Amino acid sequence: MNQNGNNMYGLPTDIKYCHKCNVINQKPTSTNEFLHDINTKQIPIYFDKDNICHACRSVEKKWNSKINWDEREKELLDLIEKYKNFKGPYNCIIGGSGGKDSGFQSHILKYKYGMRPLTVTWSPHIYTDIGWKNLKNWINVGGFDNFLFSPNGKVHRHLTKRALLNILHPFQPFIIGQKYFVTHMAYKFNIPLIFYGEPPSDYGTIIKDEEKFSYRKDDHPGFTMDPIGSNKIEDIKLGGDKISYHLDQGFSLEDFYPYLPLDFNKIDESKIETRYLGYYLKWIPQENFYYASENTGYVVNDKRSDGTFQKYASIDDKMDSFFYYTSYIKFGFGRAMYDSGIEVRHGHITKDEGLGLIEQFDGERPKTYMEDFLKYCSISEEEFDDLCNKFRPPHLWQKKSNNWELKVSPKEYFEKLRN
Ligand SMILES: [Zn+2]
Repeated sequence: MNQNGNNMYGLPTDIKYCHKCNVINQKPTSTNEFLHDINTKQIPIYFDKDNICHACRSVEKKWNSKINWDEREKELLDLIEKYKNFKGPYNCIIGGSGGKDSGFQSHILKYKYGMRPLTVTWSPHIYTDIGWKNLKNWINVGGFDNFLFSPNGKVHRHLTKRALLNILHPFQPFIIGQKYFVTHMAYKFNIPLIFYGEPPSDYGTIIKDEEKFSYRKDDHPGFTMDPIGSNKIEDIKLGGDKISYHLDQGFSLEDFYPYLPLDFNKIDESKIETRYLGYYLKWIPQENFYYASENTGYVVNDKRSDGTFQKYASIDDKMDSFFYYTSYIKFGFGRAMYDSGIEVRHGHITKDEGLGLIEQFDGERPKTYMEDFLKYCSISEEEFDDLCNKFRPPHLWQKKSNNWELKVSPKEYFEKLRN
């Protein structure tokens, strides 16, 4: 802890929970993963003077009639008009796994708005059966051309383990790959327009023109178009280590190319535009789910995922649960809090129902895929637990009769406020 009241991840030491959706004020926003190491200071989600988070403030605009959705759709039609006659088989590109959001996006753009999307997929670490089925259904039932890219398994596994050991972030290689992959593919196939899903503001990130454009040159560190800047490639980080470290381990520079962003000048020259579909159309995750079930053959798991109550989102990678579990350790922000926050903000459940779900499921041990995970990372369960304990910020956690507990749970926080 340093003097200005921020902890080892740069997050506030005064624990609060959003008075509307229960999200913890430790939740980090996206970061520049090429600089990410143990010393990285995160930018936490913004809470306003009423203790309402920025995600709540952004999502409420969808409902309080401040947005004219007819106008927004007209803007979409103008954008489509611009690219309608673009030569070539595809005039836009959508990245995804064939889940509820990419299913909705690709289908509505193609079949309602007449666009010609190419869909592209950066492979999960370890496909689940249901994830593989949904990818196939997306292509075959939804009706899309798709490129599946599977990164070199040895490199990916090496990076996953380093990211786990260095920053307790085993999902980082997937996040990096997925983030820049779409731009590479747009450039390769001469596709002028990239559609992303919901704007980052829906999850509490504040960026310029936050709702419409993604990836500009100077902006929030997690959304900059030029994350490498003037750094030498050998000096940027993957898995929390400089690339030069990985080269010493016997890898070559080319092994890491799929993880690097497309050169900013190339994006500029090729005039690739990026947009959030969630700016133009009212983006409601649960509605996307119904839409994708109906139109792209999206199917849900037969049981809820560890750490949460739902079985319809983030179900394609056996590593998913470990992303949420490690986030719970570092930030007190677990999967049930993530999922229930979305449902509360969109009015599907009440704040108190969300609180109950957090109490019941947040931080639950990801036992379903524990064995696969440990094997993938070649680590024992004991080593994994010891590692997790090293990453627990002292202002967040306390040990009580040999169990780790949050110093201020959401329930305790709100009870204290009431009294
Ligand atoms: Zn909130």
